[in-house]
Amino acid sequence: MHSFRYSQGQLFCENVSLQALAQKHGTPLYVYSKDTITGHFTRLDEALGELDHLICYAVKANSNLAVLSTIAKLGGGFDIVSAGELYRVIKAGGDAGKCTFAGVGKTRAEIVYALEQGVYCINAESEAELSYINHVAGEIGKKAPVAVRVNPNVDAKTHAKITTGKSENKFGIDFDRIGEVYARIASEMPNLEIRGLQMHIGSQLTSVDPYVEAVKKISPLVMEMKAKHHIQFFSIGGGIGINYKQSLDSGDAAWWQENSEVHPLTIQNYAESVVPLLKPLGLRILCEPGRFMVGNAGVLLTQVLYEKRGGAKTFKIVDAGMNDLIRPTLYEGWHQIVPLKQPATKETEVVDVVGPICETGDYLAQNREIPIVKEGDYIAAMSAGAYGFTMASNYNTRPMPAEILVDGDQAHVVRERQTLDDVLKGEHVI
Ligand SMILES: *Cc1c(COP(=O)(O)O)cnc(C)c1O
Repeated sequence: MHSFRYSQGQLFCENVSLQALAQKHGTPLYVYSKDTITGHFTRLDEALGELDHLICYAVKANSNLAVLSTIAKLGGGFDIVSAGELYRVIKAGGDAGKCTFAGVGKTRAEIVYALEQGVYCINAESEAELSYINHVAGEIGKKAPVAVRVNPNVDAKTHAKITTGKSENKFGIDFDRIGEVYARIASEMPNLEIRGLQMHIGSQLTSVDPYVEAVKKISPLVMEMKAKHHIQFFSIGGGIGINYKQSLDSGDAAWWQENSEVHPLTIQNYAESVVPLLKPLGLRILCEPGRFMVGNAGVLLTQVLYEKRGGAKTFKIVDAGMNDLIRPTLYEGWHQIVPLKQPATKETEVVDVVGPICETGDYLAQNREIPIVKEGDYIAAMSAGAYGFTMASNYNTRPMPAEILVDGDQAHVVRERQTLDDVLKGEHVI
């Protein structure tokens, strides 16, 4: 579900023309739809309605303050992975008491900051980390609320680089050892308070089966930890996959038929499958969606600079590079490429859409059949709202793009484009 569609030959985000935004603010430009984010939050919240639940949005997917503030106002909590993300949540008006702090390598400064701000829970990923949190909490005179991330050794059947729930991954503590670890916490770590149990098996899951398998496998352990250690919550992590290949309403003229491939994981079948398994646990259920909340809510706009016809391929060279959107080259992320203005003909051609960066891996799409776009035309990489801007860098000394949040017919600049002085800030010659 998203709020991008063609009308009168132009692509709109809600009621705002993307062509007009590209012309006004320049490219590359990230544009997000507030309505889409709100819609996703609300649908998930309703689907989990039968459970005592808290949606902790995974900040790393898109950490813009305006996005965080939108989710905070809807009552959401946050799953954070650094002190920086907690700082953002607080700046955006979010509640630290609804934050869970994940990640395998928390530093002392981060643990102290999280405890001072009063996060709901620190989700630990190793015994060494638990001992360290216990030590730091003791030193500052606090009791640290903790959960352990269990590695259920379940195959999420997603891309290897975003699979996290197998025993060969660095995440979590092996399923078989959890009972022993919780007993150790209770007997040897007086500055920790056991608050829950957490899992997160991977990202961009396109079937509910791995969730069902993991929840079924972990449930007896959850019940045991509830009886022995009075845990309050069980977190089922994030990872709900989105449709990257979905048809785009071409409006009045129906001028262009695209391939769409819709995978079977919907919020309805997710909820229908997991809620009945979770309800009997009688615990608070946490869910940590990142991509689901914002992925389809954002696009990256870019302009075609040049066309280059090589012996084997036609390249459209655009002004957005892998520093702006790294997903295609990092883990074969697929983004639909569409023109912002309906082209004059229905013809298509097979092209590589490449950026200006000095790397062969700098592409947005390869061997892709798209409508004919010419130099100067604007195009959008769809579904770029998650792991887009947050993974952007200044590689090649390219300033970070601006970000816009559309709300109805209003387009708000929620992050200004960096200037070159912003990029060089803090550097010195000797
Ligand atoms: C990244 C992450 C998430 C969010 O993953 P999505 O695939 O974006 O939903 C949730 N929980 C943890 C612990 C994570 O590391």
